[in-house]
Amino acid sequence: MVSVLKFGGSSVASATNMSRVLDIVEKEAAKGKVVLVSSAISGCTDALLKGDEEALADMETRHRDIVTRLFTGVERKQVQEKADALFSDLRKAPREEQVTYGEILSTTILCAKLQAEGIRAAWLDSRELVVKGDEAETFKRIKLALEGIEAHVYVAPGFICRNREGKVDTLGRGGSDYTAALYAAALGAGSLQIWTDVPGIMTANPRQVSAARTIPRMSYGAALDMASHGAKVLYAPTVAPAMAAGIDIEIRNTFAPEGKYTVIGADKDPARWIGVASEGGHIRIVGAQSAGEAEPGNGRASALKALTEAGIAALDIRADGASLDVEVREAVLEQALRALHRAFFQELPVEEINLFIAGDGAVAGALLGMLRQTAGTVKERTGKLLRVVGRANSRKWGIDLGGRPQLSESGDYIAAILKSAPKGSLFVDVTDSETLYKRYVELLEAGIGIVSSNRRSIAVPYPEYAAMQAAARENGVPLRYETTVGAALPMLESIARGANSCNEILSIEAVVSCTLNQILGDYRPGGESFASLVRKAQAAGLTEPDPRLDLSGRDALRKLLILAREAGVQLEEGDVEITPVVPLADGSVEDFYTALEAQEEALSRAARDAELQGFRRRFVASLEKTPGGYKAGIGIRNVPPGHPAYHLRGTENAIIVRSAFHPYPLVIQGPGEGAREAASSILNDLLR
Ligand code: ADP
Ligand code: ASP
Ligand code: MG
Repeated sequence: MVSVLKFGGSSVASATNMSRVLDIVEKEAAKGKVVLVSSAISGCTDALLKGDEEALADMETRHRDIVTRLFTGVERKQVQEKADALFSDLRKAPREEQVTYGEILSTTILCAKLQAEGIRAAWLDSRELVVKGDEAETFKRIKLALEGIEAHVYVAPGFICRNREGKVDTLGRGGSDYTAALYAAALGAGSLQIWTDVPGIMTANPRQVSAARTIPRMSYGAALDMASHGAKVLYAPTVAPAMAAGIDIEIRNTFAPEGKYTVIGADKDPARWIGVASEGGHIRIVGAQSAGEAEPGNGRASALKALTEAGIAALDIRADGASLDVEVREAVLEQALRALHRAFFQELPVEEINLFIAGDGAVAGALLGMLRQTAGTVKERTGKLLRVVGRANSRKWGIDLGGRPQLSESGDYIAAILKSAPKGSLFVDVTDSETLYKRYVELLEAGIGIVSSNRRSIAVPYPEYAAMQAAARENGVPLRYETTVGAALPMLESIARGANSCNEILSIEAVVSCTLNQILGDYRPGGESFASLVRKAQAAGLTEPDPRLDLSGRDALRKLLILAREAGVQLEEGDVEITPVVPLADGSVEDFYTALEAQEEALSRAARDAELQGFRRRFVASLEKTPGGYKAGIGIRNVPPGHPAYHLRGTENAIIVRSAFHPYPLVIQGPGEGAREAASSILNDLLR
C-alpha cells in the first residue's frame, strides 16, 4: 500500500523544517512506499508571482541557505548546481510559467536529501502527470509512472500541472493539497496525509480565535463546507477525489507530529456544530452534514444573541442546509468570530454543586420545581449545575449521589450527610424546625455550606448565631439566609453592604409581617370585623397554624433580630419592646378568637382615629440609634402619607434604612412572601 504525504509551505520553509519532514517521511517509508508531495517553501509562490529581481534574488538566497545547511561535501555542490540551473531556467521561462518553479525547487532538494540518506527516491514531474480538468487521464499517467519507475519514495511537486492544451499550468492557490489527493486516488493509497502548521482542522482559524480546538473526526461534506468557506487549511477541490476513492484525509501538524489531528472520512457527523470559517465579512458556521439534516438547535437565535451581546450588528443571518451564514462588517470580523465561537463551541466548564435539602413544605416543593425548571438556563448563565442528592422530611430521609434520593431511611439525616457529602456540597434548610440550627456548626465545620429559609435557625441567641458565623468563616463555606426576611427582596444583602462599607445605620423600619400588612390594610372601622379578617387570613394559609404567633409580633421579632445583626447590632430578643396588636388570650385557638371579638370595639376606635388624622396603620419593627445605644421596638404605628410604608399594598413588605451617608433613606419594597418568591431567593443564595 502506498501512503501519500503532502507538506505545505511552512513545513518546508527552512532546512530545520525540511529535516522534520524527512523524519516523518522516513518513518512512514518504514511501513511501505510513500509519495511525498510538497509545496514551495513558504512565501515562494508569492515572490514568483511578484517576479521582480529583488524577490527572485531573495528566494535564491533562501534556497541556497537550505542546501548549505542540509548537505555537505560533493552532495552540497551537486544540489547547489541543480538549484542554480533551476534559477537560471526560471529567469528565462515565460512569465506565466515562473510560478511553477517554487514546487520544482523544494521537491528537488527534498528528493536529493532522501537519496543522500540512502533511500531509493525518485522525482516525479507533476507537470507531465497531472492534467488539469481531466482526472481520468491524470490517474492513468500517475499509475503508469509508478509502474515504470522503481523507487521506494516518490517525490512530486504539488500545485503544478499541464492543462488540456498541453501548456504548463497550476491547480490554483493552495492547490498542492489537491495534487496529493490526485496521487492518492490514482494509486488507491492506503493513507492520505496533509501535513501543515496547525493540529488539523480546528473549530475556527486559530490565528483568529485562540480558543479554537482540533476537530478529531469529520465527514467529507463538513470538511468541504469548511474548506469552501474560507478554512484554507484544506484546499476545497481536495475532498472530491479522496471521497470518490474512499480514502480518509488526515490533516496533521508537522510541528507536533504526535499531537492532535483531524481525520476526514465517510463518517456521519455528530449532531452538533462542527466549526466556523470566514471569508471577508462572511462567516459560515458549519453544521453536521448528514442526509436531510437541518441546522441543529436554534442556531439563528443563538448567533443573533451572541453577536448582540458582543455589541455587533449582524447584517444577515440565514440557514443554508445544516449550516448558517452570517454577514458582518469586515471591520468587526474577528470580534464576531470570537463571539460566535464562544457561543457555539466553547462549553462553559460546569461546576456541580450537590444539595442536601431538609424540609418538605410548600417552599421545598417550589424549590424542587424551580431547580428542575431552571437547570438549563442556570447552567448556561452561571456554569453551575445544582443537583439534589439528599432530601428529608421530619421523619424520613434519603441520599443518592446519583441524583435520585428517595425518602426511605430513618434516623439521623445530618450524620448521614456528614458521612457522604462531596466537597462543595450545600445543606438547604427549608424546614421550620426550632432545633435544626443546633447542627449547623457541625455541617459548617465539615465544609458543608448552608442556605436557609428558616428564620428560626438564624434568629437564635446571639452567641449561637456568632458561633455559626465563625464556623462558616473559618471553614471558608457560605452561610446564607437572604430568604428569611422579605423572601425574594434583597434586604439583608443591602444592609450588609452598607455595614461593610462603614455606612453607619441610623435606623431601620421594617414592615415585614405579610399577614398583618394584609389584615391591617383590609381593616375598615365599621366594616368586616378584625377577628373575621384574621380567620380569613388563616383559611388562606397566610398565618401560622396558631395566628397568635403573627399577632404577637414574634415572627416580626425574628426578622428584626436578623436585620439588626446584619447591620452589626448584637440585638437579643429581650432588647426588643413588643406591643402586640391586641392582648392575646391563652387557651385554644377558638378561645383566642372569642377574646378577639371582644376587642373589636377598641380596634375599630383606634382605626377610626388614625383615619381621621389621615394616617394608615402599619405593623412596624424598628431599630434606632440613640445616644444610649440602639433601641428596638415592634408594634402598630400610624404612618403619615409621606412615609414610604404608607402606600404598601396587600402582603407587600418594605424596609426603610436611614444611614449616615445619605439624607434620604434606602427603601426596599415589594412582594414579601410566597413559596415561589422564597424558592427564587434560595436559588439565588445557592448560586452566589
Ligand atoms: P499549508 O501551507 O500547510 O498548506 P495553509 O496556510 O494553506 O498551510 O493552511 C494552514 C492555515 O490554515 C493555518 O495556519 C491556519 O491559519 C489556517 N486555517 C484557517 N482555518 C482553519 C481551521 N479551521 N483550522 C485550522 N487552520 C485553519
Ligand atoms: N505553493 C502554492 C501556493 O502557495 C500551492 C500550495 O502551497 O498548496 O498557493
Ligand atoms: Mg494550503
